[in-house]
Amino acid sequence: MKIIDAHIHYAGHEGFNQTARESGQINTAAAVAENFRRNGVVAAVAMGTGRSDGRPDGLCEPMRPDLAGPVTEESCALPRNIAYCAGVDSGAITPENTAKSLELFERYLKTPQCVGLKFYPGYHHIYMSDKRHFPFFELAAAYGVPVVIHTGDTAGTRGHVKYSHPLTIDEIAVDFPQTHFVLAHYGNPWIVDATEVAAKNENVSIDLSGLAAGKIESETFLAQYRGYLEYLKTWMAYLGDWSRFLYGSDYPLVNIDEYIKVIRALIPEEHQEAVFYSNALRTFGKLARLPQPGEEEK
Ligand SMILES: [Zn+2]
Repeated sequence: MKIIDAHIHYAGHEGFNQTARESGQINTAAAVAENFRRNGVVAAVAMGTGRSDGRPDGLCEPMRPDLAGPVTEESCALPRNIAYCAGVDSGAITPENTAKSLELFERYLKTPQCVGLKFYPGYHHIYMSDKRHFPFFELAAAYGVPVVIHTGDTAGTRGHVKYSHPLTIDEIAVDFPQTHFVLAHYGNPWIVDATEVAAKNENVSIDLSGLAAGKIESETFLAQYRGYLEYLKTWMAYLGDWSRFLYGSDYPLVNIDEYIKVIRALIPEEHQEAVFYSNALRTFGKLARLPQPGEEEK
């Protein structure tokens, strides 16, 4: 099965290296490439990570993946089948720097591998409905790229989860109908709320990343969390629109080999191609223009 992983982290710092070791993986560009080959992952979308504070010109700088080397507006060190969402550091946006920060994001969005924006409510103690974000939603709509939003539980204890509750996305989905929003992690554990936001708003999709963490073994996981997985299946069927779900792993947080098996167990056979591949291609439209490994750049 050909797979697009719509949510990975591709960052070279020690925290991610350690997370990869905990999930039984090696966080190097070569090991990730081999991992993808083994699992039929033909492309992935990496979420920008890091912090933009401290930029000398005081702008809100796009957060980018950096495992294969620096990504700049002029050059991209990523493998060609790994695209990314430029991370927005909500706390670094000010009324004074908004216009210039938007110009900076726009320069990245003009490059082939920047396929969306990523926000981190919860980690940042700022609601998505804060008006500082509005011009970024408009920018995403203008470039036809989605806005991916961390929703649900946060890693570590510093997050404030009221900001990452999926219900908070309803109002921006209504007010920005031209912008496509992706609820990362299905708002877990607020699955019902995330389902309602997607059911009500056609411009909302859900990514299935991060629903398990660590070095899992799929059969054990499926048995141990049977109730939880049945609950997920119930609400996915309730939404009933399989075009809205995207497979993502949240690598390096979970071992990709086994996570694919867990998510596959949740999706009816006839919708697996959509959830594991074509929905991501449609949602991240720019992915279609990225060359596949081995292909020449067009
Ligand atoms: Zn993530």
